[in-house]
This record gives sequence, C-alpha cells and structure tokens, in this order.
Amino acid sequence: EVRVRFAPSPTGPFHIGGARSALFNYLLARKTGGKLILRIEDTDRERSTPESEENIKAALKWLGMDWDEGVDVGGPNGPYHQMERLDIYKKYTDKLLAEGKAYYCYCTDEELEKERQSLIKEGKMPRYMGKCRHLTEEQIAQFKAEGRKPTVRFRVPADKQILVRDMVRGDVVFDSNNIGDFVIVKSDGIPTYNYAVVIDDALMHITHVIRAEEHLSNTPRQCLVYDALGFKQPTFGHISLILGKDHTKMSKRHGATSVDQYRQLGYLPEAINNFLALLGWAPNSEQEIFSMDELIHEFSMDRVAKNPAVFDIDKLNWINQHYMRQLDAEAFFEAAKPHMIAAGYMTGEEEGEKLAWLKRVVATAQEHISYAAQIPECVEMYFNDEFDFENEEAEAVLKAETVPTVINMLLEELPKVEKLDNDAVKALFKQIQKATKLKGKDVFMPIRVALTGNQHGPELAAMVPLLGVERTAKRIKSSLA
Ligand code: GLU
Repeated sequence: EVRVRFAPSPTGPFHIGGARSALFNYLLARKTGGKLILRIEDTDRERSTPESEENIKAALKWLGMDWDEGVDVGGPNGPYHQMERLDIYKKYTDKLLAEGKAYYCYCTDEELEKERQSLIKEGKMPRYMGKCRHLTEEQIAQFKAEGRKPTVRFRVPADKQILVRDMVRGDVVFDSNNIGDFVIVKSDGIPTYNYAVVIDDALMHITHVIRAEEHLSNTPRQCLVYDALGFKQPTFGHISLILGKDHTKMSKRHGATSVDQYRQLGYLPEAINNFLALLGWAPNSEQEIFSMDELIHEFSMDRVAKNPAVFDIDKLNWINQHYMRQLDAEAFFEAAKPHMIAAGYMTGEEEGEKLAWLKRVVATAQEHISYAAQIPECVEMYFNDEFDFENEEAEAVLKAETVPTVINMLLEELPKVEKLDNDAVKALFKQIQKATKLKGKDVFMPIRVALTGNQHGPELAAMVPLLGVERTAKRIKSSLA
C-alpha cells in the first residue's frame, strides 16, 4: 500500500509551493488507493503558530484535499503533531547514544561560530569538525559544572557514498565526508527536522516521500539516520523549484504567493488545483483543463519534470477564467458577492427587485473576468452615473450633426417602451435608424458614448435595460449638456 504524507511546518502563510507538494502527494494517494497522512512539524517553537496550522488545514480542505490519517482525523500512528511525540524521539535518541551513534556536544554558539569562520578562512566548507566526539569523563563533568546544556549530534560515518534514489531526479550520490556531525536534538530537548522527520516517516510507514527540491540536500542526512536506526528507507521524489516568470525563485515580488491570497482574490479551488498540477507535472496529451478526478486518473510520478516549473500567472488566469465561465448564475453571483460588498456596491442584505437587478448586473461580467475580484471594476458603470469621456475622439462622436436627432428620438421613445429588454432596445435602435435613414453605427455609437463616455464596452442593448429609462436619460443628457 502506498502511504504518503504532507508534513508542513506551521510557520506562516500556506504557500503555493506547499500546496503543490500536498497536491502531488494527494494525487498519488488517490490514484493508487493509498493513504495520505497530514503531520504537523511544529518543532520550531518561535515561528510555529496555531493560526498557521489552521490556515494550512483550511486551505487543504478548500482545495478538496482530504487526508486519511493525521491531525484532526487521528489514526493508528499518532500523535500527528511533532511536539506531542517528544517521548518517542527520546527513546530513539537514548538508543543512538547508547550505541555510540550519537553523542553529546557541549560546544557553545560562540565556539561553533569561531570554528565556522576559521574553516571559511581556510577556504573549506564550514561544518562541525567533531570536537566533542571523544570527550573524557572529566571534560564532561567540567562542562556540566559550567552549566552548559548539551545538544545531541549524529556521528556521521566517514568515507561513505550515500545514494539517494529519487523518482524525479534519478540517482544522486552524496559523500559523507562533506557532512559534519549534525545536531539531532537541540539543547532544549527538541529534535531537529532532519531527525524527527525520519522517525515519523518510519513509524508512520511512509512509502514515498514527495517534497520540494530544497530538501534534497537534507536527504543524505536523513538516509544516515534511517540506517542508524535500522529503518527501511522510503522512496524519495523531490519536485522542482517554482520560479517566477523571470526565472528567479518565486517570491513576493512575483505577486501573490500564498493560497489564501488567491482565495481572497476569488480564484476557484478547481483552477488552483488544475494549475498547480501543471507546475511540474506534464500530462500525456495536449489537454490543459483537468478536474480533480481527471488529475487523479492521469497523474503519475514519472511525468513529473526535473527542471524548474515556471509560475505563469497568465496561465492561472486563463484556467480560472475557464472555471469562472462554467459557474451557473447562482454560483457566479455567490463568487462575486464578497467583492461587490467590499466595493460598496451591495450590502448582502438586498432582496426582491434590487437583488434581481444585482444578479443581472453581476452576470454581465461573467465572460469578461479572470477572477472574482475583477467583477466590481467590470460592472462599475452600473453604480456610478458620473464618468469622463474616454478621449477626445469619443467626445467628438457627439459633435456630429445628426446626433441631436438621434438622441432626441431616443429620449422621446424610450419611456414609451413597455417591457425594456434587449430585444426592445434593439427594436428601438432599428426604428430610429429607419426614421433617420442613418447607418447603424451613426445611431448606436453616439448613444454608447453619451451613455458611457466610451466607444467600446459591453453590449448596449444589454446595458440600457439594466440602467433603466431614468438613468439612461440622465446620463445622456448630462453628456450632451
Ligand atoms: N516540515 C518540512 C517543511 O515544511 C517538511 C519537509 C518534508 O516534507 O520532509 O518544509
């Protein structure tokens, strides 16, 4: 059985990169009928917050990635918060210490920094040189008397080639001589990431560790711990970095980086999943739009690329637009609501005719926006009767000789229309055209400009019924004044 895990550190907003790691694990679990475990790696006491954990879980749920075992849902291999597993780690630490595979280190931060600096000066890679590897009883007693609190270091064996068989990157070999004895338990008794992650993955029977490429350099250390504890290694898969369009590492400079920011901008979870899947994974065809079910069906690790994925916001917008267009009227309106409220265009308390009008107005945006936060701007004209001419060319349209005739006729006939809808407006334009013998364009362009200040825009025949007779007349009159 495939058992994969997502193991976030709750130290800040849930990033797009984290969501992609979660998604690949989720897809592999669902594709194989395996299990997804959610473990919270909260050993960084300074930076971990309960809010961040809640934020991550809420985002996973919003994206539709449910987990089979882990925090909140429980399971046979818990607890699933690392801070609740300290006694488990301690048991293994005692074992490693007893077997001489780990040792106490009493070096102070200052001493370590000094060693680092002198190695750098000699042009060597800074690493711990093993000063506390062979302390005598007297030295230990002395350090204790000084009140020093030791860390526990892993004794890295010399001259070992460490082979990481990676599903994405192929075989990667590391030389143990480049790895200093690393800290596995800090002086406050809390394990480090490289140590806790191994014990947890082993005890949770994880078969595949799929995570971001930035952890590849940690993997040889973890392999050493697996071996020292007699655990079987899982299969690793390190998925590529996510770069911005300029091919530098994705960061805030490139725009929104957290899942929450995209949710707040009104992107749809289906679109985010679809987009994230294509960040590093390539389908077997030209298809670009995938539902979650299709992704589960199509996904395979051997189509995950080694080279960096480029975060293309235009592509995300294109995908999101696709899903926005598919929403039914009710769902589209619901998506628009928070943004319309934030823009001050509605309160959310509307009912009856007012609500019906709002729904019709919002619906005009559906074909024109990529994400919901763009809706208010798209429908702004229905809420603001004041406008400027787009440019001189637009203003000039109203100077034509024939304009007064057209406008007067419109203003006269409009109130007489019984049921003001698209067809009625179109019929009215025809009528004016016939009476004035003008070309179509000479009829509707002045009307459009007088009504919006703009030579382009949404369909006029749809706009007029939404504005109604009074506001249409008012706007036209003030444009011509
Ligand atoms: N807590 C680690 C992180 O968030 C997990 C890395 C891993 O998947 O092993 O980066």
